Amino acid sequence: PPMVRLVGVSKTYRRGTVEVPVLEAVDLSIDTGAFEAFMGPSGSGKSTLLNLISGLDRPTTGLVEVAGRNLAEMDDRELSDWRAAHVGFVFQLYNLIPVLTAAENVELPLLLTPLSRAERRRHVNAALDLVGLSHRVSHRPPQMSGGEQQRVAIARAIVTDPDLIIADEPTGDLDRKAAEAVLDLFGVLHRDLHKTLVMVTHDPHAAERAERVHQLEKGVLQ
Ligand code: ADP
Ligand code: ADP
Repeated sequence: PPMVRLVGVSKTYRRGTVEVPVLEAVDLSIDTGAFEAFMGPSGSGKSTLLNLISGLDRPTTGLVEVAGRNLAEMDDRELSDWRAAHVGFVFQLYNLIPVLTAAENVELPLLLTPLSRAERRRHVNAALDLVGLSHRVSHRPPQMSGGEQQRVAIARAIVTDPDLIIADEPTGDLDRKAAEAVLDLFGVLHRDLHKTLVMVTHDPHAAERAERVHQLEKGVLQ
């Protein structure tokens, strides 16, 4: 089955007395193991689409199925547990906690699991090793470059071994060299770890790495 399936998905927001459409009749299927990108002007609905796929938001109409689960069948509590187990997130501005070390940041998603301290530590070290930051375990975000911080964020996204990784403008705040390092890492997650990657980006270099690029225009998938 596909990792992500959307059928007839729409989303509207109420603005005063009007319902403003943000996504209209979106049909979408993303295969397990695929690496797909979404591009489109600001306000075209890209973040809303990611939020629906990750169950952070619910559609006004239509079906959202991820990893074989109809997300509408889960209440908010179940959905949040499901998300913690199945989805890893990478953001434009990293969203690391500045007072925690790299290792502590990466460990955060594991604190919700029954893993022992020793097991958590083993997973944290493996994730930081994968992103090439074994030498930065004790550094805090303010002591690291943007590219290093994003790689810590990627380690945090994969430490729970999620099926799906959702990246919102992952290279948006990076210089070319750091961006390429992050994209190389996405290539490793895709090719070697067989992760499904869904990325929103304005960066043509980033989109070029994806197997398929979708365009969103005013809430309509082109
Ligand atoms: P993009 O990520 O492509 O920039 P978004 O998905 O963030 O687009 O937003 C699409 C449209 O939906 C924008 O016009 C935005 O103002 C509107 N929107 C998004 N979230 C909300 C919300 N919670 N309430 C009202 N309008 C929203
Ligand atoms: P250094 O000795 O160079 O400062 P270490 O790797 O010995 O760096 O670690 C320093 C601190 O970071 C220690 O407090 C250790 O507990 C913590 N630490 C190292 N690796 C991890 C990890 N994977 N998870 C949690 N904490 C870690």
